[in-house]
Amino acid sequence: MAAKPILWMVIPCYNEEEVLPVTAPMFLGKLDALVKSGRVSASSRVLFVNDGSKDRTWGLITELSRKDPRVLGICLSRNRGHQNAVLAGLMEAMDRCDITISIDCDGQDDVNAMDEMVDAYLDGCEVVYGVRAKRDTDTWFKRTTAQGFYKLLNGLGAEVVYNHADYRLVSSLVLRHFADFGEVNIFLRGMFPLVGFKSTCVYYDRAERLAGKSHYPLSKMLGLAFNGITSLSVKPISIITGMGIFFSALGVLGTLWAIIQVFLRHTVHGWASLFCVVCLLGGIQLISLGVIGQYVGKTYMESKRRPRYIISERTWSKPGRRWIEEREAENKK
Ligand code: UDP
Ligand code: MG
Repeated sequence: MAAKPILWMVIPCYNEEEVLPVTAPMFLGKLDALVKSGRVSASSRVLFVNDGSKDRTWGLITELSRKDPRVLGICLSRNRGHQNAVLAGLMEAMDRCDITISIDCDGQDDVNAMDEMVDAYLDGCEVVYGVRAKRDTDTWFKRTTAQGFYKLLNGLGAEVVYNHADYRLVSSLVLRHFADFGEVNIFLRGMFPLVGFKSTCVYYDRAERLAGKSHYPLSKMLGLAFNGITSLSVKPISIITGMGIFFSALGVLGTLWAIIQVFLRHTVHGWASLFCVVCLLGGIQLISLGVIGQYVGKTYMESKRRPRYIISERTWSKPGRRWIEEREAENKK
């Protein structure tokens, strides 16, 4: 039988001092269960990514890693946002494990779905998407806007798994190919389908946040949605072009109509309607410029090729799978 896969759980944390003491034992317990059930190797790890937290989160992570060799942590030099934090963790894990599972640190995603995820991997899937079966625990507003967003994204031609966030198993093979996707504007859930390979979905019920509060207020959610659309699809630009052609045609027809009216000696009254049309077209033009501007802005950011994150600290001094294995051999002596 092939050697059991080494699993690294990748967990982004931003100001999570309240929830970490509750969920860290939960993740470690799950890791233990996965090892005991013979699914993954005993060299599996939990990797916390501290995304520039302002509270004691990093202190808690280092403390955990001191107490338990299965806990590892990296610290980003500043807050870079959820997507970049997950990316940092995945890239760090890539060459040291066979599979990664990324999961939020707040306990909303059911860790028990990991059994099925690993089973799907053992059955030959390289990517396994965790999908929320129900969203009862989200507010009506969050549920409706989120679902509208998935529909919009798919309508715009971006491939996004419905109701899947960032709870996902990805093999190191896929990550190695994913590493070639060098863009700065990242929207992970829309990018993994682009990498390809065999994938499947695992369904779970999403719980309430165990403690602390959400870092995704409406403004950030809108930002993520807009980033998702503009980094995955250029269809809005085509829609704008289409709109331009439509209104130009309308303009030509209107002009013809006006000329005919002049010949028929009908005085053209109702400049109010003209005013409305001007306002409407002006508005559409401004919005269109804004959307195009967003794409230009993104091209500008991409052209700088700035690093997407900087790791300032690691809980281990000498990284590497071999180092971990050596430590384990030492412990056994
Ligand atoms: N997070 C992060 N950086 C940020 C914001 C959030 O690493 O700038 C982490 C956070 O600690 C959590 C996950 O991303 O583990 C999801 O955030 P949250 O639970 O606040 O979002 P929600 O579930 O409400 O969408
Ligand atoms: Mg959450």
